[in-house]
Amino acid sequence: VSATACDACRARSALVAALSPRLDMAARRLDDASALLARDDEALLDALVPEPSDRVPVMRRAAAIITSTTSAAAVCPHADGYPPRLRHLDAPPATVYLHGHGSLAALIEAPCVAIVGARRASGYGLDVATTLARGLAAAGVTVVSGMALGVDAAAHRGALDAAGGTLAVLAADPERASPPSQRALHAEVAQSGLVVAELPPGVRPARWGFPARNRLIAGLAELTLVVEATERSGSLITAKVARELGRDVGAVPGRLTSALAAGCNALIRDGAHAILGAQDALDLVCGVGAEVVADVRRVPAEPSVRRALAALALVDGATVDELVRGGHGDARAVAASLAVLELDGWVRRRAGGVYEPLSPLRHP
Ligand SMILES: [Zn+2]
Repeated sequence: VSATACDACRARSALVAALSPRLDMAARRLDDASALLARDDEALLDALVPEPSDRVPVMRRAAAIITSTTSAAAVCPHADGYPPRLRHLDAPPATVYLHGHGSLAALIEAPCVAIVGARRASGYGLDVATTLARGLAAAGVTVVSGMALGVDAAAHRGALDAAGGTLAVLAADPERASPPSQRALHAEVAQSGLVVAELPPGVRPARWGFPARNRLIAGLAELTLVVEATERSGSLITAKVARELGRDVGAVPGRLTSALAAGCNALIRDGAHAILGAQDALDLVCGVGAEVVADVRRVPAEPSVRRALAALALVDGATVDELVRGGHGDARAVAASLAVLELDGWVRRRAGGVYEPLSPLRHP
């Protein structure tokens, strides 16, 4: 067993890379791409290049990719360093190409939490993503994301702020920033963490590669957190794969009237953990009560108090009566929860007895 990818696995990835434009035509959805990627070479060629004469240029391209990437850092399932959690995917990548100074072994041996979400996130969403990532990274968690604009970038940034571990997963070519505007972040992640991709250096990402990349993010992480997502967000693909793998999924609740919160609120409705701070995520991956860094406030330990806070965050404020009508306990219990939350600075009481949530993740 070696610490690098074997020739057979590199050849397989080169073939997939050479077939990338055809995969784009055949596989609009991740399930279709995964079904194709689960086939062996012959069956994959049968599906994508039925005409034998058309295979010559494909094989020529694959051979050229092998030649130009033989020295690229990579691991395959036969190598020591292949991330064990990726083996649970329907179609694990034959090769994971690596770029950066971080140690893959160290990054994946730490608890790994994916933080993903909208590209066009709100300022609040970016703030939450950065603060969550900072708190988790400072507690020794590896923050996994896709280096996209918005939430992904904010998550990597937060991990770097805390001098913590971060792992960026690109659709192709870990050596090239994607999108190109992320060049500075890409360089910083590579400096202390690692950038990884299923397709080798020199290969351009294709459309199928983005949902396929999302499956790797979910595959690498023990817990996937979604911070702001519309109902059509690609980050919901990541959450779906995580759920299918039996991994924990968490989401940051938001206003019912915000399109950017719709995806997260729907995840919570469907059983995802409501994440109100880094401590919640840490509890999920390290067990309740694990030590979190000083600059992240502890969320209330009492479940009924947490539920009251989650309920308030969803509606952006409510009275005791409204919470009672919403099924959050009797008036006495609700009032007691609100008193705790007010005392700890989670909510404040407005005129008319309306309790409104303060930012759950304010900077100290
Ligand atoms: Zn191999």
